[in-house]
Amino acid sequence: MSYQALYRVWRPQRFDEIVGQTVITQTLKNAIVTQQTSHAYLFCGPRGTGKTSAAKIFAKAINCPNQKDGEPCNECEICKSITSGQLNDVIEIDAASNNGVEEIRDIRDKAKYAPTQATYKIYIIDEVHMLSTGAFNALLKTLEEPPANVIFILATTEPHKIPATIISRTQRFDFKRITAQESFDRMVYILKQKQVDFEEPALKVIANAAEGGMRDALSILDQTISFGDNEVTLDNALLVTGSVTESLLADYVKQVVAHETTAGLAALQKVLDDGKDAGRFVEDVISYVRDLLLYKEAPDMVTGSDTTGDVFQQLSKNTAPDVFYQMINALNEVAAQLRFTTHPDVYLEVLTVKLAQIYPTQGNIGAVGSSATAVNNAEVEELQTQIQQLKQTVSQLKTSGVQTSPIAGEQSARRQAPTISTSEHSTTNSASTQTTSTVAAPTNQPASTTGTPAG
Ligand SMILES: [Zn+2]
Repeated sequence: MSYQALYRVWRPQRFDEIVGQTVITQTLKNAIVTQQTSHAYLFCGPRGTGKTSAAKIFAKAINCPNQKDGEPCNECEICKSITSGQLNDVIEIDAASNNGVEEIRDIRDKAKYAPTQATYKIYIIDEVHMLSTGAFNALLKTLEEPPANVIFILATTEPHKIPATIISRTQRFDFKRITAQESFDRMVYILKQKQVDFEEPALKVIANAAEGGMRDALSILDQTISFGDNEVTLDNALLVTGSVTESLLADYVKQVVAHETTAGLAALQKVLDDGKDAGRFVEDVISYVRDLLLYKEAPDMVTGSDTTGDVFQQLSKNTAPDVFYQMINALNEVAAQLRFTTHPDVYLEVLTVKLAQIYPTQGNIGAVGSSATAVNNAEVEELQTQIQQLKQTVSQLKTSGVQTSPIAGEQSARRQAPTISTSEHSTTNSASTQTTSTVAAPTNQPASTTGTPAG
């Protein structure tokens, strides 16, 4: 038997097997169970997120005589022939190559005839945004007067290219990117079933490189398995994806954050000497910086990077978030420019110099800075309170004079005495005597009398 690609062998055959789209699959299952299906669906989302798989499972579940809880049995003749693409009532059309008016008119004419074997005739139109304007108009007419027992499932990666008149006649579902964790879990499951040995960090590298597409993840996994002779190692995953090791990434980021331009350029040179892909490298740095930033605020969200390393911990703790924001902006800019250049090295070198010159902007001081600011604020506040208290004391003195107990007065007078010159002392004394109210005078009197001889 010839080798079959992982993504074909492990294509989901039940809604439960579709990774990362629970809300959508649950809604579709409920619609089938309660027989409240729409006559047209629009499945939007990035490539490899399960749109076509969901469409085929839907076609099976709605037609399967043994349907249970909205899931197909995958055992009966109907299910089997839909899986193998041989049931005439389930028609898959690639709009990229059948985008003309004629093709859609043909669908319209044939849709009128009742299904032959199944209960529902299902048209799955993939990449529907590729249809010509005329074809969209023809499709619209069909959707406006839908034939009985016909369901259209339109799939697209670019919903913004679809006329609003079409969208408004469909029930729309937006498929999410698969998270690195979901992708990782699925790969672990498949490899265990296949009894293939693997290193976990290798799967993390693959999950990150796949950027939210399950099909891409499995294709890369396939390549890594064949490259490594039925074993998935980190080294092979790095080679196949063109990624750099995390320690090299960490070293690069550490140098530029420390404004060590020369060392940063040296780290970059190491990456380029290894023949790594420039675009891949920039994406990897973005993921790494993103993880550093997330680790500060939401450690659970960190998916790709190993957070236990000293360098990672130090960088995340000691760098202001604002520096990370600026870095990501600079990296995104270069990622876009790299697509149009034949000299990626130059862009990466300029990028490195730029990254090494990033400092936190004012008013955006980060973790370390903010605690310093907090201390300063506390000090300032305390000083302000003290000034306020002093002001009050002074104004009290002005209006009511010094109110002290005889003993305290004695003590303070004795303590003050040696440092105060005779003339000053007498002035103070006379002033306090003058402003002292009649009630305060008797208690204050001993202080001034004992105070004077002591001086
Ligand atoms: Zn079945």
